[in-house]
Amino acid sequence: MLDIKLTRTTAPKAKPEDETKLGFGKKFTDHMFLMNYTAGQGWHDPRIVPYAPFELDPATVVFHYAQEIFEGMKAYRTADDTIQLFRPECNARRMQDSADRLCIPQIPVDDYIQAVKALVDVDRDWVPHTDGASLYIRPFVFAADVGLGVHASKEYLFCIICSPSGAYYAEGIDPVRIYVEDEYIRAAPGLTGFTKCGGNYAASIKAGELAEEQGYAQVLWLDGVEKKYVEEVGSMNIMFKIDGKVYTAATVGTVLPGVTRRSCIELLKDWGYEVIEGKLAIADIMNAAREGKLEEVFGTGTAAVVSPVKELVWKGEHAFIGDGKIGPVTQKLYDTMTGMQWGRLPDTKGWIVPVEKVY
Ligand SMILES: *Cc1c(COP(=O)(O)O)cnc(C)c1O
Repeated sequence: MLDIKLTRTTAPKAKPEDETKLGFGKKFTDHMFLMNYTAGQGWHDPRIVPYAPFELDPATVVFHYAQEIFEGMKAYRTADDTIQLFRPECNARRMQDSADRLCIPQIPVDDYIQAVKALVDVDRDWVPHTDGASLYIRPFVFAADVGLGVHASKEYLFCIICSPSGAYYAEGIDPVRIYVEDEYIRAAPGLTGFTKCGGNYAASIKAGELAEEQGYAQVLWLDGVEKKYVEEVGSMNIMFKIDGKVYTAATVGTVLPGVTRRSCIELLKDWGYEVIEGKLAIADIMNAAREGKLEEVFGTGTAAVVSPVKELVWKGEHAFIGDGKIGPVTQKLYDTMTGMQWGRLPDTKGWIVPVEKVY
């Protein structure tokens, strides 16, 4: 158990007046969680303090060599004002895997969950009340040594910030167009594709911007070696329903193991669908579309839960999916996942963790 010191803000910010205009990741709550790591001493000084800027030396390692990892999760408000999390232990474990790859000291799973719960509890009034809106939680760890040598840092800072965020589908679920990237790559075997590290995103921005300029919402990444097999989209995993079966890339080093992905796979199997995790060639997907067998395509991730896809373009060839509207399986996943998260449906899977009132 961490002994978390709490210093409450003396200048609470005004809560957002219109929760329908929150957007994503723009406003932040009154407090943040901090904990330092020092080699020889381990993690120490867990504390919740007023949200404020950091003062960092310009030679701090993270600015130069990107030794940084993060997580993304949400807190949801139910109709009876319970605040709850969704499978936080999955995020805690994934952050340990990211930490290991980036030579960052791991945070014990229980400490991670305790820290998230404590901060959400202190800022619980910031969890939005509007249907579909939630409190986005962003834990991150960065290298805090000062100096320009390339080596694993001896000092780190673990920080958690929270941002009240609007309903992802405030204007209804609108399927997106996706650009299949065949020049740039996001990951390759032996690299950091399976981690949530800032560097993965830095390397992906260019392809994302180019796709957006052409009217596509996201990039679909192919494998980094042959550029033949589908892996994932910008910040989501992706699933293809072809001739009744659901296909998705295996999470074997180059693909981020999403909590939403894993939850959707469990639900699909519960419902009797065959789910195949493995290599799926983009050429086979385009063929399936031509034969009318590409029934549904959807991204999965914490932010959107599921994001239906209506069109793929690969080397100038377009594949249109279904009738351009959200498919029945995508819709059922969305309803079931959001139902459990916002407490409208019973938690039959043991995925929900309430945030008790302690502070
Ligand atoms: C975070 C992320 C996902 C989705 O993971 P969830 O745990 O479902 O939110 C998928 N791909 C990438 C690259 C990500 O960063």
